[in-house]
Amino acid sequence: MSSLSSDLYKKYNVPGPRYTSYPTVPYWEVNPTEAQWIASILSELEKSSKAGVGAAVYVHIPFCQSLCTYCGCNTRITRNHAVGNPYIETVLNEWKLYLKRFKEAGGPDSSIPLSELHLGGGTPTFLTADELQRLLNPLLESFKKTPSAEFSVEADPRVTKKDHLETLAHLGFKRLSLGIQDFDPKVQDTVNRVQTEEEVRVVTETARALGYESINYDLIYGLPFQTLKSVEQTLDVVKRLRPDRIAFYGYAHVPWIKPGQRKFTEADLPNGDEKRALYELGRTMLEAEGYQEIGMDHFALKSDSLSKAAANESLHRSFMGYTSRQVAPLIGLGVSAIGDSWGAFAQNEKLLETYQTRVQNGEIPIARGHLLDREDQILRRHILNLMTRFATRWDTAELDTPYLKTIPAKLAELVKDGFLRLTPNSCEITAAGRPFLRNICMAFDARLERKAPATQLFSKTI
Ligand code: SF4
Repeated sequence: MSSLSSDLYKKYNVPGPRYTSYPTVPYWEVNPTEAQWIASILSELEKSSKAGVGAAVYVHIPFCQSLCTYCGCNTRITRNHAVGNPYIETVLNEWKLYLKRFKEAGGPDSSIPLSELHLGGGTPTFLTADELQRLLNPLLESFKKTPSAEFSVEADPRVTKKDHLETLAHLGFKRLSLGIQDFDPKVQDTVNRVQTEEEVRVVTETARALGYESINYDLIYGLPFQTLKSVEQTLDVVKRLRPDRIAFYGYAHVPWIKPGQRKFTEADLPNGDEKRALYELGRTMLEAEGYQEIGMDHFALKSDSLSKAAANESLHRSFMGYTSRQVAPLIGLGVSAIGDSWGAFAQNEKLLETYQTRVQNGEIPIARGHLLDREDQILRRHILNLMTRFATRWDTAELDTPYLKTIPAKLAELVKDGFLRLTPNSCEITAAGRPFLRNICMAFDARLERKAPATQLFSKTI
């Protein structure tokens, strides 16, 4: 891929969604009732069970010992580890409420097929190894693991110990994702996340020795004080430790949403052209090491299942990032967790105390969500195709969706700039167009077009 001209960068670097969902969260407007949400999960479960797959479960552990100032996640910063057990109790009670509602609605109350389990946060390894067992053993009792089930966990190398990794390996976890971001001391100090190469090496090698099959590193470009030199040094460490997958995200500067980001100023951040140069250096170095760009900001070695999924077009993308296949429904447990039944989204209460109170009151603690209409479902499929295959194709039956007919005109400028090949019923992103993936998806975003955000909700696209 050629390097990006400054003019094109300026033309297309506008605020835009990252499309971990469609409609994007700020555009959810038709909340499902609890009964609709349960019915949509059960209907999807029935379909996937017939196809020999099961549900995906995401459990959110919000606690972190200190705040990394770039962070955009839902966290509760505390050094008080006494919060672990009451939280585990609440998550398990939330799951019991689901089982009760499933039974009342004529669905299963145990032996639910399970194809994916993901622990995210926050910091899942804020919990002790014993606490992780106390959470996961009862949860797993109500499921039946499918033969190809994948269990994955996000971990902070600063607090992840051998007993965490052993316990999780014993429970079936084979994928580990480590938050790295950058190895430069000045950058680490500014974003309040100081961790050494040695700490990361120990966790990586321990996990490999315990049988973890895929290790991911999260890196960020565009952080305060990053330079080409510091990114090169970070990538040199990555070369030495050789994870199977790398997420190389652009830093999303949204201090009006995440006040922690006010600990540095915009003047400390690499500017537009500099930021893009950091990504291009990183991508070039990763490709030279055998990593393939499998989707937006994501790279994997050829031997990793994500590369294989990209090759056989089964790659999927959800709130948890890229996965090697589409698994539905996704049931989200824990504060702020998001569930997705393909026909509906539901997000739990974001404030820990409200989440806990609602579960204590016997309610599924959904704060908001969205029931997708037919147009949403069609556009969602195309945006997902673009995000996972860099191409999409629409059939004649879909053309009764008026918005779809307007898309070619919206893409005309991108075609002229050489980013897309367009036919009457398909579009394919060229190599030069890949940095503009979010801009291309925006042409498919009917809800964004109909209602421009009143305040700036999104980070810049490039
Ligand atoms: S450890 Fe992760 S979730 Fe917690 S504050 Fe840092 S980046 Fe955010």
